[in-house]
Amino acid sequence: MTQVVDVVVIGGGQAGLAAGYHLRRLGLDFVILDAQPSPGGAWQYTWDSLHLFSPAAYSSLPGRLMPPQPGETYPGAAHVVSYLSDYEQRYELPVVRPVRVEAVHRDGEFLRVETTADTWRARTVISATGTWWRPFVPAALGRTEFKGTQLHTVEYRRPADFAGRRVVVVGGGNSGAQIAADLAYETDLTWVTLREPRYLADDIDGRALFDHATARRRALDEGRTDTGGVASLGDIVAVPPVREARDAGLLKAQPMFDRITATGVEWADGTSAEADAIIWCTGFRPALAHLAPLGLRGPRGHIATQGTQVLAEPRLHLLGYGDWTGPASATLIGVGRPARDAARAISGLLQGE
Ligand SMILES: Cc1cc2nc3c(=O)[nH]c(=O)nc-3n(C[C@H](O)[C@H](O)[C@H](O)COP(=O)(O)OP(=O)(O)OC[C@H]3O[C@@H](n4cnc5c(N)ncnc54)[C@H](O)[C@@H]3O)c2cc1C
Repeated sequence: MTQVVDVVVIGGGQAGLAAGYHLRRLGLDFVILDAQPSPGGAWQYTWDSLHLFSPAAYSSLPGRLMPPQPGETYPGAAHVVSYLSDYEQRYELPVVRPVRVEAVHRDGEFLRVETTADTWRARTVISATGTWWRPFVPAALGRTEFKGTQLHTVEYRRPADFAGRRVVVVGGGNSGAQIAADLAYETDLTWVTLREPRYLADDIDGRALFDHATARRRALDEGRTDTGGVASLGDIVAVPPVREARDAGLLKAQPMFDRITATGVEWADGTSAEADAIIWCTGFRPALAHLAPLGLRGPRGHIATQGTQVLAEPRLHLLGYGDWTGPASATLIGVGRPARDAARAISGLLQGE
């Protein structure tokens, strides 16, 4: 069946919901198509001990503050899932799930959105599919020779799954540091990072990062010099579990190994570490395969945008993938503003402005 609508939002995680909030306020006719069977986007699938790097009030979508989680300064992932579930009900957001968008095509005055269910003809599209669904593992010499288990951040759940085993964690970002800290007490851990871990100061959490992103956005809006993204401050937010493991001397990073063998990893100087498992905490890429028929991809898979609007296809907006679609747009608190901008731009386009 083919349905016609003004706006299709692809993805019902926080970015898609923030878009829905603003589209609803502007009175637009829209639908949100989400591939997951239940609300919460990627937050449903993170490891058990994951906590936000900001307090609840600093992790809120437009219109409704995230309530604090009793007993926790930094809410856990399950709390975020219930907040997002509540959010979509409260604002009666028209989320249809599970529906996976397989392809978006140009179709005259419409964009044709082909899905695992119906086909939608949309005047405009907001793509908000996140990055969790495209884990990235770098090429590594000998990777296929390894006889143990290899997994990515997206598959890691809890230290008990590795109790007493020899584990190599690869990656010096937040996921790597948090998973290494999680495993530090129950496993024989080797933590490997490309460069010496760069911790943010202990008193810097998501609040300060958001303030930094806000100042940057203001500078960009006013045509002043770019102060740089939050990456210029460091790579790792010293959330309490990371701080505790680091201060206990359990987070000693080794430089990146040179090759993987059948039984572990090896450095060029001949030293080695035996391993039962290698966990790749090596990041993600934007999940944009559904946009391939539009032929928009540039270097590193990014699509050129002005704010959220795609330069080569102005009926399409991208939301939440990272700084390239707006400072802090891939965070709970940061996605509100680009979502509002996208909804306003779409409203203008539909009214022929
Ligand atoms: C480990 C980790 C910790 C983080 N910690 C924080 C934090 O503390 N604070 C913070 O603000 N941010 C944090 N983030 C960043 C960010 O807030 C999350 O990544 C968040 O999940 C991004 O939301 P999203 O809506 O963009 O994407 P997602 O949550 O991934 O939602 C996208 C939705 O789109 C669906 N989808 C994907 N492809 C399709 C398709 N083709 N068709 C239909 N639906 C599709 C997905 O199934 C999903 O439901 C963290 C990220 C990670 C990875």
